[in-house]
Amino acid sequence: MFHPDDSALTPIVDALRLARPVLWTRPDGDAATAAPGAHFLMDQVLSAQERLARFAPLLGDLFPELAESGGVIESPLLAADAMQAALGLPPEAGRLWIKADHALPVAGSIKARGGIHEVLEFAESLALGAGLLQAGDDYRKLAEPKARAYFGRYQVAVGSTGNLGLSIGVIASALGFRAAVHMSADAKAWKKARLRARGVEVVEHAGDYEKAVAAGRAQVEADPCGYFVDDERSASLFLGYAAAALHLRGQLGRADIRVDAEHPLFVYLPCGVGGAPGGIAFGLTQLYGPHVHCFFAEPVQSPCFMLRMMAGCGQLPGVPMPPSVYDLGLTNLTDADGLAVPRASELAYAAVGAHLRGVYTVADDTLYADLARLHASEGLRIEPSAAAGFSGPGQLCGTDAGQAWLRARGLRAHLPRATHLAWTTGGLFVPDEEYDRFLSRGRSLAAGS
Ligand SMILES: *Cc1c(COP(=O)(O)O)cnc(C)c1O
Repeated sequence: MFHPDDSALTPIVDALRLARPVLWTRPDGDAATAAPGAHFLMDQVLSAQERLARFAPLLGDLFPELAESGGVIESPLLAADAMQAALGLPPEAGRLWIKADHALPVAGSIKARGGIHEVLEFAESLALGAGLLQAGDDYRKLAEPKARAYFGRYQVAVGSTGNLGLSIGVIASALGFRAAVHMSADAKAWKKARLRARGVEVVEHAGDYEKAVAAGRAQVEADPCGYFVDDERSASLFLGYAAAALHLRGQLGRADIRVDAEHPLFVYLPCGVGGAPGGIAFGLTQLYGPHVHCFFAEPVQSPCFMLRMMAGCGQLPGVPMPPSVYDLGLTNLTDADGLAVPRASELAYAAVGAHLRGVYTVADDTLYADLARLHASEGLRIEPSAAAGFSGPGQLCGTDAGQAWLRARGLRAHLPRATHLAWTTGGLFVPDEEYDRFLSRGRSLAAGS
């Protein structure tokens, strides 16, 4: 375990080690993270969006739930005035909205964005290479037996705590690939059952998420027709997530929500390895520049991205690089299973670290309480991971650290016209029985607070 020297025992490091909720903001002009996110370009985000559009007719045929949207996998932008009141966020602090990825069809979580994009990109390159598809073709050709038989020679595999596996497994098997999902022992039984029902092979591994990923990667590398989706290093995943920013821009426009110097947009994104929130924050920063302020949200026992950001700013002297939550004596144990990650993705950090405004942590009890508040106020049904965004406005507007940051940035005066966007990242497929347990736990906690 990492034993920081005394100089590292700042109040934030102290709070982190004690697993207390805390907000960290990135210091201005810090050399370590001041480099622009040079790994990706907006053109690549546009390409990802175009790829999703090319596949939409095929997806509309493969998934009945997409018939209505013409194969577009998207979620609504929802005003959340009742939730805002339930959270005690005064109207002078701005207005709360929700980007409802908990309801994303096909995968039931934000993983639909990156995971499906990556499998589609792999399928597209295979089909073009094999002459099964020409540029400009109708992609519904890929549902024909010839293409499916060809895809069936390939294995698509992933290591996952659950939601990424659901997304990859479901799309890969729908296209005709052999699909394998390597899961850690703590993955939920219903997720395994859902995958097996779709013909996906579920391989269980002892140990945490990192071990499942390593075991899965080793197995696929031994298969010449194997393709491994690497949650920590995949550009395709990242770009699939980033494409969400383009769709959100349209939704903000249609809702008459302005984003400029006088109308700041604060976005609160639940973070695991950082790929999903990183891609979205990257895309939004490309579109809105300095007027969008992205914050990541992590469980108090799994603040891997916060540690990576702090280390990058020289605030964790002596910590092994890249840092893990175990180095601080934390357990990585949380009911927010989508966020239970010990170490951040270096790809996500390199791409978005310089754009991120800050990271805050949330206690599991607060996740449950906010899950219940959201059900009572807006009638929405989310999983615990997806509730992490709702602590954001309070961390920013209701703590000394948040207020100091707002003041230093000259944002205090603009708060009444600000938009706070909580990204709800999963929940659609949580079984009723399990959701009812979440809800009753959340209700007792919300009542007590
Ligand atoms: C995966 C996941 C996230 C975070 O995505 P990362 O790419 O791991 O940071 C957030 N919420 C839910 C529900 C997830 O499944």
